[in-house]
Amino acid sequence: MREVLYLVIPCYNEEEVLRETSKRLLEKVNKMIKDGKVSSKSKILFVNDGSKDKTWSIIEELYRRNNIFSGVNLSKNRGHQNALLAGLMVAKEYADMVISLDADLQDDIDVIEKFVEEYYLGNDIVYGVRNSRKTDTFFKRTTALGFYKVMNKLGVNVVYNHADYRLMSRRALEGLSEFKEVNLFLRGIVPLIGYKYSVVEYERHERFAGESKYPLKKMLAFAIDGITSFSIKPIRIISVLGFSIFLISLIALIYSVMMKFLGKTQIGWTSIVISIWMIGGIQLLSLGVIGEYIGKIYNETKARPRYIIKDKLLNNKGEKRNELYVQNKEIIFK
Ligand code: UDP
Ligand code: MG
Repeated sequence: MREVLYLVIPCYNEEEVLRETSKRLLEKVNKMIKDGKVSSKSKILFVNDGSKDKTWSIIEELYRRNNIFSGVNLSKNRGHQNALLAGLMVAKEYADMVISLDADLQDDIDVIEKFVEEYYLGNDIVYGVRNSRKTDTFFKRTTALGFYKVMNKLGVNVVYNHADYRLMSRRALEGLSEFKEVNLFLRGIVPLIGYKYSVVEYERHERFAGESKYPLKKMLAFAIDGITSFSIKPIRIISVLGFSIFLISLIALIYSVMMKFLGKTQIGWTSIVISIWMIGGIQLLSLGVIGEYIGKIYNETKARPRYIIKDKLLNNKGEKRNELYVQNKEIIFK
């Protein structure tokens, strides 16, 4: 008896790619079912992250045509990480293993079989790792590289060149559901779950249609979230900085008192202006970094739900159910 695979795909304004994506994924899953690699109960689950275009109606249409397609509709746009989490938590109820991937199929779907093989070999988590970034723009390539470097320097354990293309077993997903943080950075959390893992390399393609949903602003926010959710080093750097400046100011104090007694004081305009700007700048920056962490604490203590599911299209037993239940602060229409 082969095990049940769910593909989870977060979608935000993806009407341009959904038809082609669903066609390619359907072929892939059907082939795997036919080859006896996965159970015939396997599904392709799209999560609509509050899209403003026709994404959800396309998902509904796909579901009507073929029950292998399923859908979860979030109440509003919550961002890629939360949308992905919503999909994973729904899939965990029915699947033995779940693979997450992007709607634009930039991640090579031909390695899905390898993911599944690794799972059958006893790995609970399989990370997809890009072997090249040839197709990325120069800008994306350098910023991404810088990001991984900074993360590692700050002591955050992330798998190099791994985005959110990965397989997780049901037990790994149960582990993930124990992490209640609101500031969600899955790439940092998944390695913390533990269990046996392996890595599969793949080639990353270009987006075949539509535009990137990760403009610079979102990328920066994502990077800052990733760092401040996993590392307190920036605050420590500030403490070290503050302490060093304090030492320097002691030296400056001794120096200026000495100069005064030696009668060598003069109008020190330059030094005063420079110190005001520098100290002021450093103070503001430090306050900003500390504020970033206080903001995190603020959000975590409120512990608001990370997503709310509005509709759910999932045909598991050949019938569509429609009852409301509330579980772990998630409101789910089932
Ligand atoms: N996405 C999402 N919510 C958002 C932004 C993006 O669900 O607020 C989805 C998007 O539909 C895609 C995936 O996240 O499936 C990755 O986005 P994209 O391909 O635009 O990012 P890039 O590959 O450019 O980093
Ligand atoms: Mg993409």
